[in-house]
Amino acid sequence: MLSIGTQFDAGAIEVIEIIEAGDPADIRLRLRPDTAADIRQWFHFRLQGAKQKACRLRFLDAGRSAYPDGWRDYRVAASYDRKRWFRIPDTFYDGEVLTVECTPESDSLYFAYFEPYSWERHLDLLGRVDAAPLARVERLGSTLEGRDLDLVTVDTPGADRRSVWVIARQHPGETMAEWFVEGMLERLLDAADPVARRILERAVLFVVPNMNPDGAVAGNLRTNAAGANLNREWLKPSLERSPEVYLVRQRMHETGVDLFLDIHGDEALPYVFVDGGSMLPGFTAAQAQRERRFTDSLLAASADFQTGHGYAPDRFSDELLTLASKYVGHTFGCLSLTLEMPFKDNADLPHPECGWSAARSVRLGAAILQPILAHLQSERREAGPCAQ
Ligand code: ZN
Repeated sequence: MLSIGTQFDAGAIEVIEIIEAGDPADIRLRLRPDTAADIRQWFHFRLQGAKQKACRLRFLDAGRSAYPDGWRDYRVAASYDRKRWFRIPDTFYDGEVLTVECTPESDSLYFAYFEPYSWERHLDLLGRVDAAPLARVERLGSTLEGRDLDLVTVDTPGADRRSVWVIARQHPGETMAEWFVEGMLERLLDAADPVARRILERAVLFVVPNMNPDGAVAGNLRTNAAGANLNREWLKPSLERSPEVYLVRQRMHETGVDLFLDIHGDEALPYVFVDGGSMLPGFTAAQAQRERRFTDSLLAASADFQTGHGYAPDRFSDELLTLASKYVGHTFGCLSLTLEMPFKDNADLPHPECGWSAARSVRLGAAILQPILAHLQSERREAGPCAQ
């Protein structure tokens, strides 16, 4: 008997009557919208009872999703054991319907838009971090559904007080962002890592691994429990609609910000890239040079990063300061970047079996320490008496 289940963390899909007919070659699906906004893209479900049966799953409304370009050259992520995820090669998009063909080797096969990062894993990460001598986990406040919004602080006694802020998963379906943060934190807390130690001599790190807990558990792509896109709330966040941004922004104003990274995933572009502040009013040549220094260092640290493809500089002009990295860059005058990873793959360095993956996001997160250190070192040189 075929069935499809979604009653687990981030589970989301709508099944059209087909399962009753039990024909594995005609499973018709619809993307489920975010819980309080009409945004369809994320899915995560278990197909059960299809072992050794030729299956054909069709997402009938893919062409009417939030990012239809996201399906071009996209391959669905799947896993038998929820640990090892792979891509299904026979994924086709005709501009309207996304079709997936596969013959499962086991009775249970999980499908997802991207490898999930569960709330349980999030809590495990916080537990490991909390056990590290230099780190602590602090509850900033509550989400609309009563989940904890947690801030990780990594602080070395005697360190300079410069503040590096990294936040992830404002868009909860962009799970690669929290995989990235996991890789970054693991390296940062590795007492044998010289780059981490040099960073911690120079700065305090503030990290929010999951900015949108309610949306993450609900299986939303873009929004929180109130339907708010948190990355459009930074100018006027409110406790009623966007407490996640309100609480983090408030703390940022207390600590100041010397470097800010906002970690995301992009549905359409098959590259890793950053988006900076060049379109901001008052953006200076010195700020442009800071950005260039950071991206040069990231190019050297990760062969998955590139600077040839990205957003057009005028892309967000209407809503500019409602975005986190623009608001922070403009308000604090600091280096402030949005970092995007692909949902699909890195077209410059494709991985046939996995595409872009959790493992690659983790490694990119570890690699980000190099440009963070380069930034902190160059700022010190410029500010010091021996500047050349
Ligand atoms: Zn995003």
